[in-house]
Amino acid sequence: MSEIPIKSTCSACGGEGLLATGKIYTLGGREHPLLTRCQACAGKGTLLNWVDVHQLALMLHAIEVEAQAE
Ligand SMILES: [Zn+2]
Repeated sequence: MSEIPIKSTCSACGGEGLLATGKIYTLGGREHPLLTRCQACAGKGTLLNWVDVHQLALMLHAIEVEAQAE
């Protein structure tokens, strides 16, 4: 069975790799939003999905059908 990696943007952090905690810290008299590393993508901002080639072919076909329908 052959699989290929597909990179996708992490939906949890929107590709930033960081998430706002809602808290604020003060540094040098300025307020900064306190950020935390995104747990979903480990701060990379992208997710790697191993997809079966056959599955990918089906996905591409689905996109094609969708595009034709528009
Ligand atoms: Zn993320």
